[in-house]
Amino acid sequence: MSECRFDGQVAIVTGAGNGLGRAYARLLAARGARVLVNDLGGDMHGAGASRGPAARTAQEIVAAGGIAEANFDSVATGPGGKSIVKQAMDTWGQVDIVINNAGAVVARGPIDENTDDDFCTDLMVAAGGTFFVTKAVWRHMWDRNYGRIVNVSSSAFLGMNSSAGYPAAKGATWGLTRNLAYRATSQDKDIKVNCVMPTAAARMTKLMGDAISHGMERYYPPESAAAPVGYLAHRDVAVSGEMFATGGDIMRRVFVAVTPGYDAGEGRLTPELVRENFGTVFGEANSTLVLNAYDKVALDRRVDWQAGLGS
Ligand code: NAD
Repeated sequence: MSECRFDGQVAIVTGAGNGLGRAYARLLAARGARVLVNDLGGDMHGAGASRGPAARTAQEIVAAGGIAEANFDSVATGPGGKSIVKQAMDTWGQVDIVINNAGAVVARGPIDENTDDDFCTDLMVAAGGTFFVTKAVWRHMWDRNYGRIVNVSSSAFLGMNSSAGYPAAKGATWGLTRNLAYRATSQDKDIKVNCVMPTAAARMTKLMGDAISHGMERYYPPESAAAPVGYLAHRDVAVSGEMFATGGDIMRRVFVAVTPGYDAGEGRLTPELVRENFGTVFGEANSTLVLNAYDKVALDRRVDWQAGLGS
């Protein structure tokens, strides 16, 4: 089996001063990538800033014989995203890989306790950060016809006892992933965009109590979620627009399915008909997957072609 390597490539890993981002950056660098290690260096709720975490990860990589530079910008603003990409371009002249990993849980408690500002900050870090950095690098990848982007979602958006902004932002990163994957695939560009939903011991999991925290550190160290990102960032990745659950040295696909549903046929669908047939609408039997970027492009082209025939 040949090794998945990144020789000659340049990667940006955001939020790489701690936890999962650090593990992603170290894996890519150990396999030959030159890595821009971005981290604002705030606390786990996004407050404050420090150069320490990004500098430390970059130093670790260099000490291990790799190539890295630290970057201390926030991903959560347009100028921050541009500055991160500019540093990589000024230093190495190209960007092949972006891992949009930076994240913080700013708001705490249920929705009625979340301030408007905290909600917006949560959106700006996870969803905004993914948007700002990707926007700054997109044209470069498009013109070179090459790019691998890995976005980071969270199972929090599938329903968890968390604040409102964080899961909303993490749902947005999945939507953005599908949008970018479709756009690139439909133009036959070799730009692949996928998304992970990791589980790993990190600063946050220390808040869950000693028993959970120790179990997580033993079975879900950040390194146990790094290999899937290594594959998704590699030239050989087979898919685009997909979501994977990662951590504990396991990688699973997460997908959206639709049920066959209830069709009112020639008649109008009414609330009463929905009530009467809700079991058929809701039941999972014979569900089909919502299409990925490749299937959807193929289908849309067929529809275009059929529409052309009709005109
Ligand atoms: P972490 O707190 O250890 O690391 C996140 C890093 O992002 C920190 O070093 C932080 O300084 C940096 N960061 C925060 N805001 C930033 C900003 N505006 N600009 C640049 N850097 C910023 O957390 P982690 O657990 O390693 O999480 C990494 C990613 O994985 C996050 O997006 C998180 O939401 C996601 N995630 C983690 C888990 C888990 O189980 N650990 C679960 C689901 C999702």
